[in-house]
Amino acid sequence: MVTTQQPIVKFWGTRGSLPVNGAAHVKYGGNTSCVEIGTSRENGQFVIIDAGTGLHAFSESLTEITGRDFHICLSHFHLDHLIGIPFFAPLFQAGCAVHFHTIIEDAPDGFEPILDKFMAEPFFPIQSDVFEAELYFHSHASTTQIDLGDLKLETCPIPHPGGAHAYRTHIGGMDVVYATDTEHEPGALNSRLVEFSQTADLMLYDCTYDDDEFMDKKGFGHSTWQEAIRLAQAAEVKNLAIYHHDPSRSDVQLDEIEKKAQRVFKNSFVAADNQLFVLDN
Ligand SMILES: [Zn+2]
Ligand SMILES: [Zn+2]
Repeated sequence: MVTTQQPIVKFWGTRGSLPVNGAAHVKYGGNTSCVEIGTSRENGQFVIIDAGTGLHAFSESLTEITGRDFHICLSHFHLDHLIGIPFFAPLFQAGCAVHFHTIIEDAPDGFEPILDKFMAEPFFPIQSDVFEAELYFHSHASTTQIDLGDLKLETCPIPHPGGAHAYRTHIGGMDVVYATDTEHEPGALNSRLVEFSQTADLMLYDCTYDDDEFMDKKGFGHSTWQEAIRLAQAAEVKNLAIYHHDPSRSDVQLDEIEKKAQRVFKNSFVAADNQLFVLDN
């Protein structure tokens, strides 16, 4: 992460549902959902949203772990958003703290029993009791404000099987909306999400499908890049990141989607793993 007063979004994982690799996925990458938003790691002014395989890439980028607090906000608990956790280096190091933020509506008993469930045989050979970091489990109301000092977050429920929540971060005068995974109703914008996203500087949205594919994928819990544009226009967001790509989408297909999207919404782009987006005025 570049340390600057200017808020940034670092995309550590942009793929949806399943990590992929290979020649067709070089440009946009294949790590699953994980982004870092903030201004400074040194001052603790950053947050991680979702813990897909991209969390491992974030972890590899760390030069200093001891003495740090890591805040991980989870949109929901499908495996593509959690699978990086067992490989998150700070968990295994004493002298740092890892905070998990979840929403009580999605996890009435909190996140700890969920973590213990998948950090267990036969899914994983070691259990969460080997973690040396101090762990904190924060359970928030469905629509709440989370105060992390200079960085603040708001939450909003979004339709997805089993429940999911969007986050809106505020730092350095810049607002970012992170809204994945979610399914839309054709012809009816999610007015709650439109209101939640009003005039955000950047919106990340679940663009697993396109509108044609969506007709065969109803009930899968995902949305389309065209719906992302409709939402972005209605909410007057300044920039749109096409996010949570279908695992079978090739670089060529994603390039095509970006071209089509930019014809309708100029400030849109297909988010790629390792991409750094600087929020400026
Ligand atoms: Zn997902
Ligand atoms: Zn999901």
